[in-house]
Amino acid sequence: MILAAALLTIGAVVFTLLVRASDLPVPEPVSPTRHLDQRKAAIYENLRDLQFEYRLGKLSDKDYELTKLGLQKELAAVLAEFDKLAGKPAPPPPPKPQNQCPHCQATFDKPLKFCGECGQPMTGGAAS
Ligand SMILES: [Zn+2]
Repeated sequence: MILAAALLTIGAVVFTLLVRASDLPVPEPVSPTRHLDQRKAAIYENLRDLQFEYRLGKLSDKDYELTKLGLQKELAAVLAEFDKLAGKPAPPPPPKPQNQCPHCQATFDKPLKFCGECGQPMTGGAAS
């Protein structure tokens, strides 16, 4: 009887613990850029500190420049990482030259009906 009571108690405790665990708020999904945000913030803070100390005269020009350069490099790397995660498409290829003569490939600043080089019609020649 005592054993049964003990088991029941243990069961109740375990049950309570389990329920409590599942009642805990689900941790927010970690954003892929979160650690980058933190790194970026840390770098900005370092840069601020660096400037502050430099203004106080605690750093030599050389130390300041070197440290700043290192931090800026780090920052650039973090920003590049951001771009990668954002899935930014590669810059679009340069636009096709417009107003290009389909016959002699001469290009013109303005759309022309007839090519200024060879005199052939600029549109409808090759397309149709
Ligand atoms: Zn032409």
